[in-house]
Amino acid sequence: MIQVTKPFIPDRKTLDKYLDGICERAWLTNNGPLVQELTQRLEDYLGVQNLLLVANGTLALQVAYKALGVEDEAVTTPFTFAATPGSMKWQGITPHFADIDPNTLNLDPSQAEKAITERTQALVPVHVYGNACDHDSFQDIASRYNLPLIYDASHAFGVQYKGESLLSCGDAATLSFHATKLFHTVEGGGIVFKNRDDLERARSMINFGQSPETPNDIASVGINAKMSELHAAMGLATLDSIDQIITQRAALIQEYHHCLKGHVEFPQRRGSENGAYMPILLASEEQASAVDSSLQQAGIRPRHYFSPALHETTTYGNDDACPVASDIADRILCLPLYPELTTHQVKWVCEHVCKNL
Ligand SMILES: *Cc1c(COP(=O)(O)O)cnc(C)c1O
Repeated sequence: MIQVTKPFIPDRKTLDKYLDGICERAWLTNNGPLVQELTQRLEDYLGVQNLLLVANGTLALQVAYKALGVEDEAVTTPFTFAATPGSMKWQGITPHFADIDPNTLNLDPSQAEKAITERTQALVPVHVYGNACDHDSFQDIASRYNLPLIYDASHAFGVQYKGESLLSCGDAATLSFHATKLFHTVEGGGIVFKNRDDLERARSMINFGQSPETPNDIASVGINAKMSELHAAMGLATLDSIDQIITQRAALIQEYHHCLKGHVEFPQRRGSENGAYMPILLASEEQASAVDSSLQQAGIRPRHYFSPALHETTTYGNDDACPVASDIADRILCLPLYPELTTHQVKWVCEHVCKNL
């Protein structure tokens, strides 16, 4: 059986060293030394500032909206994971979907601009598969309409774009460190803020609204979204291997491209390849389901990631028309990708794809 992904398990000796330290200190959570160390090491590794680690990627989005004062409506893409609009609705924010670019599969800036109304309070594009959004256009729209720009950058760990970290783009960029993501802490997430003030406000928010500046008061409404020391330990042990993880995954992607080029389409890549996902586009919905069943029969588990498009679901469906997203959702498949996958297995997966075209 070949699953679409397999969580990375770090070297046990490395992990145990961190766990021993936690047990000796008996400091298990509340901005402990490992959370602080992971924050510093991730800022250095990613080349970003103002990183706040949180309990998961969904809370990262919720806290980012709250910290930037988003309450009414936000414009986003229907071609994403349910957590993007889900985190909005949970905050009482109404998601408005605009259509995607058929080449990059990211939110189309001109469609996003058309979807802006008087009630819009943020733009929330997603760097789907770690593929960089057209940041210059989004920044231009955000400035003209005076809207915060919040990227769901859950897939964009380590991506470089135009000479800097893609995570530095926007007023906030959120990360997911879920077990199935490229870099993980079992459950976890992060927010990269442009402004230090927003970071400090969010830091208080994730700790019940408590703040060291006002020890005798609760200055704002908060939630509990802190990362624990155990999760940070997993992150630190995984970070030791991240270059190797990315190199291995990127090599497998190259192998897939080599085998499938001319047979299937690939989304157009913007920014560096971080090895997060291996998406392919089939010619039609029929072809996509034929390939899927054939792979399933061979014990290979691809994923229709993301299908259905969210504007067509019961919970998030509305009048927003996004024909490109609907079409892409019918034809997309993500193929298995994780470091232990062999080139032999990749070739075997490709054979099963190609025999159904
Ligand atoms: C994984 C993911 C999330 C949610 O992250 P969690 O850490 O699982 O809460 C949000 N948005 C996108 C695009 C994701 O892929």
